[in-house]
Amino acid sequence: MSADAKVVEMTQDEQTEMNRGLHYEENLLWEKKRSDHPGVDLPQPAGLKSRTGVLERGDIGLPQVSEPQVVRHFVRMSTWNYSIDHGFFPLGSCTMKHNPRLNEKLARLPGFAHIHPMQPESTVQGALKLMYELQDWLAELTGLPGVCLAPAAGAQGELAGMMTIKRAHELKGQSQRKVVLAPDSAHGTNPATAVMCGYEMRTISTKLDGRLSIESFKEALYKTCDKGSDIAGMMVTNPNTCGLFETNIVEISDLLHKAGGYFYCDGANFNALIGKIRPGDFGVDVMHLNLHKTFSTPHGGGGPGSGPICTTDELAPYIPVPTVVKEGDRYALQWADSRETTLGRMKGFVGQFGMHVRALAYMMSHGADGLKQVSEDAVLNANYILSQLKDDYYVPYDGPCMHECMITDKHQKEAGVTTLDIAKGLCEYGYHPMTVYFPLVVPGTMLIEPTETESKDSIDRFITVMKGFAADVRAGDTEKFHDFPLSTPRRRCDEVKAARNPVLRWR
Ligand SMILES: *Cc1c(COP(=O)(O)O)cnc(C)c1O
Repeated sequence: MSADAKVVEMTQDEQTEMNRGLHYEENLLWEKKRSDHPGVDLPQPAGLKSRTGVLERGDIGLPQVSEPQVVRHFVRMSTWNYSIDHGFFPLGSCTMKHNPRLNEKLARLPGFAHIHPMQPESTVQGALKLMYELQDWLAELTGLPGVCLAPAAGAQGELAGMMTIKRAHELKGQSQRKVVLAPDSAHGTNPATAVMCGYEMRTISTKLDGRLSIESFKEALYKTCDKGSDIAGMMVTNPNTCGLFETNIVEISDLLHKAGGYFYCDGANFNALIGKIRPGDFGVDVMHLNLHKTFSTPHGGGGPGSGPICTTDELAPYIPVPTVVKEGDRYALQWADSRETTLGRMKGFVGQFGMHVRALAYMMSHGADGLKQVSEDAVLNANYILSQLKDDYYVPYDGPCMHECMITDKHQKEAGVTTLDIAKGLCEYGYHPMTVYFPLVVPGTMLIEPTETESKDSIDRFITVMKGFAADVRAGDTEKFHDFPLSTPRRRCDEVKAARNPVLRWR
């Protein structure tokens, strides 16, 4: 560059407005330089006299931007949320799989997209039939025939499921049952749900192999009375949050049932089992399913969730309303006036209907054989990653995993590199990190769930990056890990401060 060449200095506003470097950050509209050319420019009305007295409004500092500037600002921001459409997203326990565009196409059909929940039932027979068929598919896949599609997410499904259990105990005169069991590896929503229902939590400790043992289960079941007659139920995820199948589950559910408790299964990890086994067959009384995980409806900023519950015939009278019933060749919503045992309603109208369309589209396009292959491929992919990384990272539990694999930072930590550093390194290399520090049963966990929709190429590249990190640590090249990520607009935040003193308002 010659000495007198002029470097054009750009403001940050100018840089982003030219999309320079595809910079994933820009000022708030409020922070933009006030323009002399406001977006809306009306002449002062003639002869206007303020009649508001002291309440007269001063300059409140609204940003002066035109419609295209506003549109570009928000469209740019809408692309900054890392998603499964941007790249690999191995977030354990979240099942970030590809959302087939066929689902979207069907959900946009005017007959589905343009109906209103207050239309007379006779005018939405097709939509009700779709929901009825979805109930049927879920019943078939879980072996649990009582289905309510209404809950809006996994956590609300859990609440609906535990309220079902509570309602059943109440109507059977068993209100003295106040204790709910859950393993120490449980997802946080499990104990939170039980406590919200007024139950007391009792933890089952998982033993060295990461699974529930009969002994630890019995210890918790009979802790305060030898018949377990204070037990309302148990909440277990299978496969559990360590990605392991609970092998003692039939014996455990038998003991629970003998004690008079119900078995709630957190079905968020159903992607590992779908088409292979039915949870109803291993003793589950009620479970929720995350349509937005297993059945490919968008989540993680991409759309509302949907968490239907499925129960045994015994518990079906208590589940929330509405459910879709078939009367002759007509479909109808069943409400509390025709099923008084119900716990009531959890949600406005019928739930997230658009997600029901997407989920059924996914199931029907896969068919029974395709769904079985979903879980087989999901499990295969997770085991491939585990087998490739097992010599580089510490593997706390031996043997194959289910749909997600767990490794830890035990080896790297000796050199001062932690799970957090590795996660930040993944950001630098263009990945959404895996789930970190969860479950809490092992220190420094990294829970990796590739799902069945990831190609071998993209999994291999991820493995190469992870192996590269381990090799760098072994070679003593550890300094950079504390600086990762290097090229994101924000580097490392003071996360403790951010959590304790969140600044939610721009001034
Ligand atoms: C995702 C998940 C939930 C909660 O589901 P949401 O739809 O996020 O409310 C509950 N349990 C487990 C094990 C999960 O992975």
